[in-house]
Amino acid sequence: MTDASYEEIARLLPAGPPLCLTTHESPDGDAIGSLLGAGLAFEAAGRDVWLYLAGTTPMPNEYGFLPVDRIQRELPSDLEQREFWAFDCGSARRIGPDESVLERPLRVINVDHHHDNTRFGELNLVDPDAACTAQIIERLLREAGIAIGSDVAEALYVGLVTDTGRFQYANTTPEAFRLAARLVDAGADPARVFAAIWETVPFAKQRLLGIALEHARLEASGRLLVTWLTRDDYRSAGADEPFSEGVVDHLRAVEGVSVAALVREPREVDGPRHKVSLRARDAGVDVSKIARGRGGGGHVGAAGFTSNETLQEILAFLRASMA
Ligand code: AMP
Ligand code: MN
Ligand code: MN
Repeated sequence: MTDASYEEIARLLPAGPPLCLTTHESPDGDAIGSLLGAGLAFEAAGRDVWLYLAGTTPMPNEYGFLPVDRIQRELPSDLEQREFWAFDCGSARRIGPDESVLERPLRVINVDHHHDNTRFGELNLVDPDAACTAQIIERLLREAGIAIGSDVAEALYVGLVTDTGRFQYANTTPEAFRLAARLVDAGADPARVFAAIWETVPFAKQRLLGIALEHARLEASGRLLVTWLTRDDYRSAGADEPFSEGVVDHLRAVEGVSVAALVREPREVDGPRHKVSLRARDAGVDVSKIARGRGGGGHVGAAGFTSNETLQEILAFLRASMA
């Protein structure tokens, strides 16, 4: 359960046992970019690498221009002989519902930027000052002297551009811009990434956004904007599960709103009844604190939790959190 330094983790990179790398379920751009960027770089450095993502939720289609077919949905049969690296996971639960997975590998290494990371690894490199997990990986590769090819650069750039809200959120530091410059120098193509992620929106995703905006309701004297999506809403829009990503950011953009929330029904009927996404705008509100009140977590400005409560109960909880 120790906190490791960049130097200690970088020292492990050039040689060692086979690896199983993973990230969080319902992966975002930083999750997929970090997993692929690290995977391709470690492999180019001669490591045996298995890339794993738990669950069966389909990958968001906007990342299909990256080599996502390298990502396996099953664990390797020789997991006991592998070192297990988790990227962008604030807690063991984020990897998948079966936390006992962590007892099988040689050891667990936790590389992340969430300030509330639970330090579930044997070695934990948690850097809350990093804009994204991809930024931590790039620094590790530099310290280990591992070259960054254009495929690695583009994957890591995806993590950076998505977690910074295209270089607009508060985590857009000078270092984030310097990292962007290094990645573009190494072959990442910003225009290609933009077109692939933000200009390939399926029409059904826009229709789902339309339904979410239609449901949206101002609460707490206009400081809280909440909406919800039911399984029926997904069906009537013709939308897949990941299509609700980004909905909550549209809510946050509304004048006077300091917290935006999306409450949605996940597709799997045997899982939790609701997934809740929270976003904050002003520095005075920490939505990860609200999320921890229901067993979730995240960043100050972007957090989430799952819940078996009804929509009405969740709305009441959110309203009370704004008091
Ligand atoms: P999302 O709203 O799903 O995009 O999630 C925003 C952020 O909240 C993620 O980057 C995670 O840090 C965090 N998060 C989301 N869901 C959970 C959860 N169930 N438990 C802990 N953290 C979560
Ligand atoms: Mn993430
Ligand atoms: Mn991240």
